[in-house]
Amino acid sequence: MNPIGVFASVDAGLGVSWDVIEKVGVPTIQLHAPHRQSRGPEVVERLRQQLKQIGVTLTAVFGGFEGESYADIPTVGRTIGLVPPETRQERLQEMFEISDFAQQMGCDTVALHIGVVPHDRNDPQRAGIVDVTRELCQHCGRHGQFLHLETGQESAEDLIAFIDDVGVDNLRINFDPANMILYGMGDPLEALKKLAPLVRSVHCKDGTWSDQPGVTWGQEVPLGQGDVNIKAYLETLRDIGYTGPLTIEREIPQDPERQLREIGDAVRLLETYLRELHG
Ligand code: MG
Repeated sequence: MNPIGVFASVDAGLGVSWDVIEKVGVPTIQLHAPHRQSRGPEVVERLRQQLKQIGVTLTAVFGGFEGESYADIPTVGRTIGLVPPETRQERLQEMFEISDFAQQMGCDTVALHIGVVPHDRNDPQRAGIVDVTRELCQHCGRHGQFLHLETGQESAEDLIAFIDDVGVDNLRINFDPANMILYGMGDPLEALKKLAPLVRSVHCKDGTWSDQPGVTWGQEVPLGQGDVNIKAYLETLRDIGYTGPLTIEREIPQDPERQLREIGDAVRLLETYLRELHG
């Protein structure tokens, strides 16, 4: 049965805070990369020791950058990932450092939102984004790591076309079913089936469709209360042979008590469905 996990943060990103990982009581985490000043050798040593003490395995490190904003869909296009040309090179350098940090943490997976890639293969911006992604994969490859792209900002077909264009064997997908809904990018379970051979990690997050899909956000909601259909999601993951961690993501760090409570509910929901599906 898949191990359950939670998305966590040290000092950056929207995960559960480091000091409550133990309270969540799950065997795995994905970690938002800490700020640069918190990636030094002493911090690495301390974080590794703490995870070891509580018996938690780090399964992926997510990169994120200063200046990113998820305020609305057009802002995502302008600010996220390796897409904005003016910050592309410095963010690539930072991703190299995050890959190095992940390696020191003993983790073979680095992930990020790459940003909104132009779908038209003739768009003049596209080649530069493909090249920089390949460079990052090569860096990760030297550490024996995979790079995972978070889904959501494109359809399954466009994501497959992008991965084809990058043309390396360590570029995979972190599948987030809620993002497909929040960004209005198509039915998540159909997308999951199409992307199946490339999916190497997943988020368990739920959301409701916007009344203007792709124009305005849908709403992120507690697991099981949105439009994903979590039981069917787990069934599809089983059917495609996915045995990796199920990482719960609940992006409401402004209310840590509620976040923790809802994540506890999510853990129980997943455990119940997993028992039903796997017997
Ligand atoms: Mg996600």
